[in-house]
Amino acid sequence: MKLLLHICCAPCSVMAIQVLRAQAIEVTGYWYNPNIHPYTEYQNRLNALKEYSKSIELPLLINDFYGLKMFTKMALEDLENRCLGCYELRLKETAIKAKEAGFDAFSTTLLISPYQKHEQLKITGERISNMIGIPFYYEDFRPYFREGQAKARALPLYMQKYCGCIFSEEERYLVKNK
Ligand code: SF4
Repeated sequence: MKLLLHICCAPCSVMAIQVLRAQAIEVTGYWYNPNIHPYTEYQNRLNALKEYSKSIELPLLINDFYGLKMFTKMALEDLENRCLGCYELRLKETAIKAKEAGFDAFSTTLLISPYQKHEQLKITGERISNMIGIPFYYEDFRPYFREGQAKARALPLYMQKYCGCIFSEEERYLVKNK
């Protein structure tokens, strides 16, 4: 199977790719993360993925769009539920790209994170699959999360401190400073 794998960041990709490759799935990475702010953080994460992809010979397609204005406008419409819109945005773009480029299915490394709304991710992936007309590859990678983070730290890969959007950065540090 030829799979287009949306990659949210290099550390989350480590074990997801390893697990997929072990099943003889041919993985191509896809970068599309307009949710990551500010720009220096966006660049750090993208550069880390570029370097890591080379080191493991992972083909990588890059949709280099820094979406601060578009994303924050969307998120401010419903801040509490912004993650659902964030999943929709990234998975839809990945599904469209996968279909255009002739992949068999699409998926996302977000499925490895215990910090994401896993069931919502699955529902969103399946809904988009029906909408765009390409299978969504679902696997619960969460049991591999700690191992992946440890491997990423050991390499070392750039490790981010918050999910991605400027609102998650505020949540991370405001809570910490209380
Ligand atoms: S917290 Fe993470 S998943 Fe939620 S909107 Fe922000 S970047 Fe997206």
